[in-house]
Amino acid sequence: IQSDIARLDRFNLIGQMAAGIGHEIRNPLTVVKGYLQLMGSKPELEPHFSKIETMISEIDRANSIITEFLSLAKHKSSELQNQNINSILLNLYPLLQADTFTQNKQIVLATQPTPYILLDYKETSQLILNLFRNGLEAMHENGTLTIRTYVEDVHVVLAIQDEGPGIPLEYIDKLGTPFFTTKDTGTGLGLATCYSIAERHQAKIRVESSPCGTNFMVYFPIPQTK
Ligand code: ADP
Ligand code: MG
Repeated sequence: IQSDIARLDRFNLIGQMAAGIGHEIRNPLTVVKGYLQLMGSKPELEPHFSKIETMISEIDRANSIITEFLSLAKHKSSELQNQNINSILLNLYPLLQADTFTQNKQIVLATQPTPYILLDYKETSQLILNLFRNGLEAMHENGTLTIRTYVEDVHVVLAIQDEGPGIPLEYIDKLGTPFFTTKDTGTGLGLATCYSIAERHQAKIRVESSPCGTNFMVYFPIPQTK
């Protein structure tokens, strides 16, 4: 028990330090961004506009790394409650739909009735959003993203399938490694967050990928009555 408490304290300490550092870095970044935006509105600085734009977007990137890192480092214990994944999906759906339509892409929701499982509402929403965003980002216009839920043996499966170019074999092993990204403006923290959320739900993530698309499947255990 003693070592458990020590562990907990350490996690709290790391979480608090991360939050503190995040805050301390974000404030100066906000100031710098503000001045850059001001400079970007001065006609006499026109020759430097593209550099200023690059600096602003790099600051935005640093900010999103901090945001995602904080949600990863917080390490609060999950609040697992008996819930239905389909109702979480339905609540998120308007948001997902809006994102897909503004990018001229399609979304299909294909849910099957599933039993209640132990889920943390916020974390599960975050997991869905991160996989959804990756799928969307991987696709050209008119691509279709399909979200499925179904039961397989003793698991409820959430599957998010895109029609993107797929993930090269040499990258598959790197998925979920913090900061691994192939995108110019990526943070490489989306999947790391997904894997850590899945772990807290005792869920497993599987990936199937081909040049026609990628399917991320999350296997949530169905609580077994003894
Ligand atoms: P980010 O999206 O910020 O790059 P992620 O952790 O979400 O970070 O994803 C890491 C990398 O995994 C991406 O940069 C991309 O190369 C690859 N990836 C993830 N999902 C997909 C997908 N659906 N299709 C193709 N590549 C993907
Ligand atoms: Mg991502």
